[in-house]
Parts: sequence; structure tokens; C-alpha cells
Amino acid sequence: MLYLVTLIFEGDNLLASSGLIEGYSVEDSGSEFCLCVYAFNIQPGVQIDYATGESALVDTASLEPIKQVSPESEPDYVLNKYTRKFHRPSCSSVQDIKPSNREDYPGSRETLVERGYEPCKRCHP
Ligand SMILES: [Zn+2]
Repeated sequence: MLYLVTLIFEGDNLLASSGLIEGYSVEDSGSEFCLCVYAFNIQPGVQIDYATGESALVDTASLEPIKQVSPESEPDYVLNKYTRKFHRPSCSSVQDIKPSNREDYPGSRETLVERGYEPCKRCHP
């Protein structure tokens, strides 16, 4: 039986990036056993620096894309389009606003006043 492993180096790398493994049964000129495997010199979860020959464990969890979880944003103010008043979302009057007159407003107080809205006298937004 004859085995031949050819390591393949890229550039000036100290570590083989892949290898060619050949097996050959000499006794019967390879009719019984002939193997030719091209193997990359890599392992799952291991990062190999082929230039220096150093390898490091890769934290596969850190490769996961980071999910940006934004909290359910509450509107800054709730408008009553009918009375032209604006409220804090926590104001008890908000519940009395008809859905058709209600508008959630994520923005600044100044803009609302410019638009002609008045602050509620109960919640003083
Ligand atoms: Zn209010």
C-alpha cells in the first residue's frame, strides 16, 4: 500500500491550505484500491491564519447578525383632531377620544402648537 500526501502551499504561507491525499494499492497496480482525496486544511469553528500557521477558535455566535430590537415606541403626544387638543399618552382623556378623531403624534410640542393645537388642561403636556 502506498500513500502519498501532497501539501499545497499558497504563496509564502507556512501552513498548507490544502492537501492532496492519494492512496494506491501497489500490489495489484491500484485495481483494488485507489484513493484520491483533496482535503482543505480547515476545521469548522477554527480560523487558520495560513500566513503564520496560527489558528484560533472562532466564536460562531459572534458571526450571527446582531438583531436590532427596538422597543415598542410610544407616541409623544396623542391628538384630538376634533377639539384640536393634544394629550400625553397616559392622559385619561385619551380614552374618550373617538378613534376617528385620534391621532398618535411622535414629534415635538412646538410643531403641534404651530399647527394650532392646544395642550390639554388635565395632563398639561
Ligand atoms: Zn389630556
